[in-house]
Amino acid sequence: MEEKIKQMLIDVVGDKNFTDHQIDMVSYSYDASEHRHRPTCGLWAETTQQISEILKIANKEKIPVIPRGAGTGLSGMAVPIKGGIVLDLSRMNKIVKISIQDRLAIVQPGVVYAELENALSPYGFFFPPDPASGKVSTLGGNVATNAGGLKGAKYGTTRDYVLGLQVVLPDGRVMRTGSKTMKSVSGYDLTRLFVGSEGTLGVVTEIILKINPRPTVTSTALATFDRLDDAGRVVSQIMFTGIIPSALEILGRHTIQAINQNTDLNLPEVDAMILAETDGHTAEETDFQMKKIISVFQKNNPREIKSAKTEEEARELWMARKSAYGVLARIKTHFVLE
Ligand SMILES: Cc1cc2nc3c(=O)[nH]c(=O)nc-3n(C[C@H](O)[C@H](O)[C@H](O)COP(=O)(O)OP(=O)(O)OC[C@H]3O[C@@H](n4cnc5c(N)ncnc54)[C@H](O)[C@@H]3O)c2cc1C
Repeated sequence: MEEKIKQMLIDVVGDKNFTDHQIDMVSYSYDASEHRHRPTCGLWAETTQQISEILKIANKEKIPVIPRGAGTGLSGMAVPIKGGIVLDLSRMNKIVKISIQDRLAIVQPGVVYAELENALSPYGFFFPPDPASGKVSTLGGNVATNAGGLKGAKYGTTRDYVLGLQVVLPDGRVMRTGSKTMKSVSGYDLTRLFVGSEGTLGVVTEIILKINPRPTVTSTALATFDRLDDAGRVVSQIMFTGIIPSALEILGRHTIQAINQNTDLNLPEVDAMILAETDGHTAEETDFQMKKIISVFQKNNPREIKSAKTEEEARELWMARKSAYGVLARIKTHFVLE
């Protein structure tokens, strides 16, 4: 990078927020994918205005800019594959506002998912997408990848909770999308366009998120099947019962074998296993829903059905599913999750 451009960038962010040290360039050369490439420099932005100035310079000088949250992405989109500037958003990490009466939170992009969860918890609220990387991944990264987790079937993914964004466009212009209201129906839905765009359309600098009251009770059950067909039929039939499980996960024979070969969980070597969870605000509510699920299990030739009586037992039932991702990723880095 020309000395003149380097100085222009330092003038925007200050000395302490510019780096071209080799150790930092190596750190920014990878994410959780197998892609690797070093940037020319890294910048920690602290304000939307700084990001606007950086993008104006980069746009004029034709330098690639790669926004970066926590670098846990699995598709290599935080890796500066053509060099250029890594724009690290981790220092824009303030929860600007939590408004329970409006059922929303306004956050900067560098806030870690778990930090928002901790802040919402005393109010009995939560932000449902729950990616498994939530202890470290940032909300900016969650928005840019439309992150979602095991409860997606009931609660959806990040896209379903983003009410509005502040975004800096590649030429440095700052724009707002969406609104702070639950109902926002006029105009093009630019918010949804930006969610999942992996940093290709602009840099997200503020996020307005819808939040939900947190269910306080869950019921969990697991059933094993000698035939995958039976397990598949269970999933379809549950959809006719009129309830929406908070989680419904099927593990096939290959996944079960991989878990057994790589952990000491010692699962039964069946064709399929289904884990179901229901949630609500009273035990009667979640048990009512779970009874319907168990009656569907019973009609489809289960080998065994287990219901968790305590939280500890529920955690044990979930252990197999939660270990599946890490086990499969260890066997092969190229696998598809949907
Ligand atoms: C162990 C593990 C478990 C995971 N589990 C899940 C899961 O359950 N569900 C799931 O969906 N994903 C999961 N992931 C993938 C990853 O954690 C998510 O994609 C997460 O949302 C990425 O957040 P991040 O802060 O690490 O973003 P990064 O990896 O830093 O960036 C990801 C993308 O977002 C862009 N970006 C980041 N911040 C901004 C911003 N402010 N403005 C514009 N673009 C931006 C980057 O340029 C890049 O394209 C998992 C990853 C790991 C390693």
